[in-house]
Amino acid sequence: MSNESGNSSGVSSARARGRVVGVPKRCWCGELVIPLMSKSTANPNRRYFRCAFAVEKKLSNDNHAYKWVDEALLDEVEALSFRIGRLEQTILSERMEEERKKFEVFELKLETDICARMEDVVSEAKCEVKKALVLVF
Ligand SMILES: [Zn+2]
Repeated sequence: MSNESGNSSGVSSARARGRVVGVPKRCWCGELVIPLMSKSTANPNRRYFRCAFAVEKKLSNDNHAYKWVDEALLDEVEALSFRIGRLEQTILSERMEEERKKFEVFELKLETDICARMEDVVSEAKCEVKKALVLVF
């Protein structure tokens, strides 16, 4: 066994600092992300998520978490609808398999029923024929 390098943390800074999909829970710095209301003239009353540390230190033009709430929610909705789509697919195929099995059982039962009934009808018909023959002769 050989240790190639001491870097085995596995934490990717690209993932940590990159654009977060959906509602951010925590900033890459470890601070919580809090919802705030924009007071800028460009986006008045628009809600956004911001790193609590950056808010406290009144940072600007920094790389701490910052995301519009509507965009984050849109991400969430897209991710959810994708997951729902996949779930529906899974459920559908599972249900189809279930229905197919049920149908096979039903089909077998139906076949047995029909056979039994046909035998009944045939033997009844034979009886009727016999009765008719008895009546005729
Ligand atoms: Zn931060």
